[in-house]
Amino acid sequence: MTGLRTNVADLLHHPGARRPVVIEAPVAGLAAGVARVAESDPLVVDVVLERVPEGIVVRGQVKGHWTGDCSRCLRPIDRELALPVNELFETEPLEGETYPLEGDVIDLALPVRDAVLLELPLAPLCTDDCAGLCPVCGNDRNENACDCEAAPSDERWAPLRELRL
Ligand SMILES: [Zn+2]
Ligand SMILES: [Zn+2]
Repeated sequence: MTGLRTNVADLLHHPGARRPVVIEAPVAGLAAGVARVAESDPLVVDVVLERVPEGIVVRGQVKGHWTGDCSRCLRPIDRELALPVNELFETEPLEGETYPLEGDVIDLALPVRDAVLLELPLAPLCTDDCAGLCPVCGNDRNENACDCEAAPSDERWAPLRELRL
């Protein structure tokens, strides 16, 4: 059982019925590489449940934040998450497309987990143009320049420099 399991018996008995639901709950196992949603940090699921002929449609969004380390400079990163959710729960779910309606219960953790895992970057960056650590001396090149690279790159670019008029 997770905190996002929701009883929808009231909707199942009333075709066309809908009900807003806001649940704040932790979801386990949300990690991809170094990016993760801490379990101490609950996600907020803000959706409308609607009874449709096939089952229950869930529309809305999931909010929270993820943390990780920049893959170039290792600085800590903390980013907002705000992802759309638009899914169908049905008695006979299609693998990879819809989610199971088990009796009167749907587990919102299932689509939330799928949406968040798709969003977490495998190699997060603190900024798109993070300069990273110097591979030679380990200096954080976002803070200070260092001269380490000068020798090899000078050789490589020397012919190009001579072309410049
Ligand atoms: Zn960085
Ligand atoms: Zn260096």
